[in-house]
Amino acid sequence: MKYVVMVMMMLLPGVGAAATRRQIVVLDPGHNGQNFRNSSKINRWVDIGTEKKACNTTGTTSLNGLAEAQYNWDVALLTKARLEDVGITVVLTRQSNDGWGPCIDERARIANDNHAAALISIHADGGPAGGRGFAVLRPKLVKGLTDNTVGPSATLASMLVKSMANKTGTSPSSYLGNKGVLVSSDYGTLNLSKVPAVIVETANMRNVKDSALVSTGTFQQTVAEAITAATLEFLAASPQSAG
Ligand SMILES: [Zn+2]
Repeated sequence: MKYVVMVMMMLLPGVGAAATRRQIVVLDPGHNGQNFRNSSKINRWVDIGTEKKACNTTGTTSLNGLAEAQYNWDVALLTKARLEDVGITVVLTRQSNDGWGPCIDERARIANDNHAAALISIHADGGPAGGRGFAVLRPKLVKGLTDNTVGPSATLASMLVKSMANKTGTSPSSYLGNKGVLVSSDYGTLNLSKVPAVIVETANMRNVKDSALVSTGTFQQTVAEAITAATLEFLAASPQSAG
């Protein structure tokens, strides 16, 4: 009987993967609420594969004084609840907004150690006052580092650009990336992730209109909906990545 079940799973790989494994998604709320009080710790250099960079940064602040770290944390919790509602296991890279770190290399390691189906890092940008909108950052090919993640991360990025526009009603960034996508090897979290990974800059906190948006529960909910929708679309399209 066991043999028959195994054969059926092999014939239906998508069904087998869904039935035998819980899919894990790692959400990474960028920065941390107490980073600004721990500058010596967050300024420590870490290896990001291509160069050395600061362990972490403080993040930006909206024009009305909302700290990016707090916003990222709130959006991550809203997204986590939505994904868990549909049976996805969610791991966060930090457990509160009251501490410092973890470093960017550690954030990638958490996704790797959990064999996550995807790593999504949630941010809001501190861009030029005249610029608006969201951008999804995805890894650039770095031989020996991102060979396996470039393709699926690109798929996830394009799904997220589409769902951000659909759910939030905002537009791809007017100043960052191309049509809402930036391909880069400058980010440790993307370079070091062995699983499909993206960073989403959900809005520009230094723009008057975007700054007003990020403080509203409605916008935060729609961002969470957008990340959830893109994640589910990605998982459905790539059940083999659920290991
Ligand atoms: Zn940030």
